[in-house]
Amino acid sequence: MLKEYLSAKKLSLWHQMLNKARKIVIVGHASPDGDSMGAALAMFLYLKHLGKQTVVVMPNAFPEFLNWMPESKRVINGQFNPGTARGMFDNADLLICVDFSGRERLEEMNTWLDEYTFPRIIIDHHLNPELSADLLISDPDASSTSEIVYCLLEQLGYYNDMSRECAMCIYCGMMTDTGGFTYSSSRPEIYYIISQLLTKGIDKDKIYRKVYHNYSVDRLRLMGYILNEKMVYHEEYHTSCFAITREDMERFHFKKGDAEGLVNIPLEIKGAKLSISLREDTEKDLIRVSLRSVDDFPCNKMAAQFFNGGGHLNASGGTLYCNMEEALATVNEAMAAFGKLLKDNQN
Ligand code: 5GP
Ligand code: MN
Repeated sequence: MLKEYLSAKKLSLWHQMLNKARKIVIVGHASPDGDSMGAALAMFLYLKHLGKQTVVVMPNAFPEFLNWMPESKRVINGQFNPGTARGMFDNADLLICVDFSGRERLEEMNTWLDEYTFPRIIIDHHLNPELSADLLISDPDASSTSEIVYCLLEQLGYYNDMSRECAMCIYCGMMTDTGGFTYSSSRPEIYYIISQLLTKGIDKDKIYRKVYHNYSVDRLRLMGYILNEKMVYHEEYHTSCFAITREDMERFHFKKGDAEGLVNIPLEIKGAKLSISLREDTEKDLIRVSLRSVDDFPCNKMAAQFFNGGGHLNASGGTLYCNMEEALATVNEAMAAFGKLLKDNQN
């Protein structure tokens, strides 16, 4: 039923690389999401089970709403503890990259990829992997990297020994990258995997609550404010857009992660095809862009063409280096450029 990601040749390479490795670093992408964390921690738990010395390093902080994840307290934040992260890289002899394959997703840590020459395994589900790897396990059709990790662990014979904690991590990754199984999630294999994870005793409803019903009062008020006062719905393009400024964030005591998921909400409008959010960064002079779409509208193409980014068909992101007024003008340009697809009333 499940894909076997490791051909005979890759399987033997996998074993060779792991047998040789004494200290392994697992790294996910900056602003780690549930999938990046889930895939990294599930792999960490597997390698720990094998008795391997392993650490998880993330380029910066993961959002607070993931701090219930098993072993998350051991994750090293490369931005806050660069010395510790460096030390881990200095001692490592194998790097496993999960949930990214473009170097810019490591932010400041991306230069480390050139500095350290140890072998590299990449496990990812993004289109067009850019980074080279000694072993590349890539599948853009997978719902999430966590799904690939599950298939890999099953192929490696870990299913019987898989812990509940490991199953929780994989479930969290699959759930968050599909918006709670509401997009990119129509393949039957996904539900086979979920049924396998449930046999490990995970409480999927609790995982849902921990991730999605974990807001502060401020975050809920921010949501109300954004929808009421900031969101603009461009009827002819079936597209909504809102901008969150630093001023808005201060007003609602913004904490990292508070903007998470807001961009999905305007897709609840009947007939909506695309939702765009613009958010001023709290530290750097840039604007983070998030795009979400339904059906076959290619967010990733729009993100690549207008927002210096990319991603998946229905969920993409990017960055603009300008002020908000200019960013809103770019959104207008993008909508016009994709006007034919957006105006189309077929669906
Ligand atoms: P988000 O809107 O949650 O920041 O990002 C949604 C998805 O878009 C991510 O899972 C990731 O795949 C992709 N993405 C976000 N930012 C970037 C970016 O700057 N470059 C590329 N290539 N993909 C991005
Ligand atoms: Mn992912």
